[in-house]
Amino acid sequence: MPLYEYVCDACDVRFERLQPMSAAHVSDCPDCGEESKRVLSLFAASVAVGAGVGPSPVGPLSSACCGGSCGCG
Ligand SMILES: [Zn+2]
Repeated sequence: MPLYEYVCDACDVRFERLQPMSAAHVSDCPDCGEESKRVLSLFAASVAVGAGVGPSPVGPLSSACCGGSCGCG
């Protein structure tokens, strides 16, 4: 279940909720009870980046003078 982050417009508090992806994009603020809007969680974003592709590996073609297209490598 994804972790969502919310920011309350009324009191500016940030809180996180574990909710199914089908849940509403609003949640009640734990401080004032107002509806708070979901924001992109920095935690979720960093996890997504970490799981993605890293720096491109240096392949054997990079050592050829032209990248291999002329056959000199
Ligand atoms: Zn609030």
